Amino acid sequence: MSLSVKILGCGSALPTTVRNASAQILKHNQKLFLIDCGEYTQVLMRKYGIRFSALKHIFISHLHGDHFYGIFGLLSSLSLMGNTGELHIHCPEKLKYILESENSPLDTTVLGYQLCFDALKPSEVNLAYEDQKIEVYSVPLKHRIQTWGFIFKEKPAELKNIRKECIEKYSLSISEIVRIKEGCDLRLEDGTIIENSELTLEMPPTKSYAYISDTMPSQSVCKAVEGVDVLYHEATYEAALAERASQTFHSTSLQAAEIAKNANVGKLVLGHFSSRYTDTQILENEAKTIFPNTICAYDGLEFEI
Ligand SMILES: [Zn+2]
Ligand SMILES: [Zn+2]
Repeated sequence: MSLSVKILGCGSALPTTVRNASAQILKHNQKLFLIDCGEYTQVLMRKYGIRFSALKHIFISHLHGDHFYGIFGLLSSLSLMGNTGELHIHCPEKLKYILESENSPLDTTVLGYQLCFDALKPSEVNLAYEDQKIEVYSVPLKHRIQTWGFIFKEKPAELKNIRKECIEKYSLSISEIVRIKEGCDLRLEDGTIIENSELTLEMPPTKSYAYISDTMPSQSVCKAVEGVDVLYHEATYEAALAERASQTFHSTSLQAAEIAKNANVGKLVLGHFSSRYTDTQILENEAKTIFPNTICAYDGLEFEI
């Protein structure tokens, strides 16, 4: 199974010529998930060759413009491109009313596909979406308005892979193979039990990704992202601007690194940079003093998890 992330934009409130507002595509096997939809998202999707028709789920963290102003253009273009079926938007409840209000710039009744809204639950970590292969949890953050992060977790494969040599060795029947794949032990004719672990290959580890933006450092977030493989955490400011970060309910590079360290994550990706940084090296250097396996996001960055 493959899980990868493409950063479309990792800027903050003021987009610049080198950095767009927040948006990223998470790809799990052939399924696409859009996380946040800042201005210009649909153009960036075109630029990076992302298949619009494969997009069936959009997650919106909060209703600051740099995280959702692109939704109007994207929904409109999906309509013009002949999109059909359902498009699920997991978002703050208010977005449904904004999009469907009679004052909305978009007429959602003539899109040609169906919008399905799933309101994020405010109080605690909640399962926001799941299918057979992946689950997505929403995590309340600590920001000026109600905001959520998202944790994507692969589910373990339902069926195990059998060791090929065992099929011949024990002359396994089809029904025995099915039961072993489901996790059962094998009972031989003389009553001997062969344990399932001897008959099957070790399952590959499942992967996980957390998107945490925008927020002040939060202990409950730290707990929620415990052990994820990759943590994308906002670092709007450098450490010297900690007071500014606190006033605006954002984090510094050092604070993001503290969360990564305390949550024992595999890798930290910093993002949501203030427009004052044309070069983000200072943020990366600061974070590395606490959590060495840190990189800074940039628009166009793609990484496998
Ligand atoms: Zn923001
Ligand atoms: Zn915000």
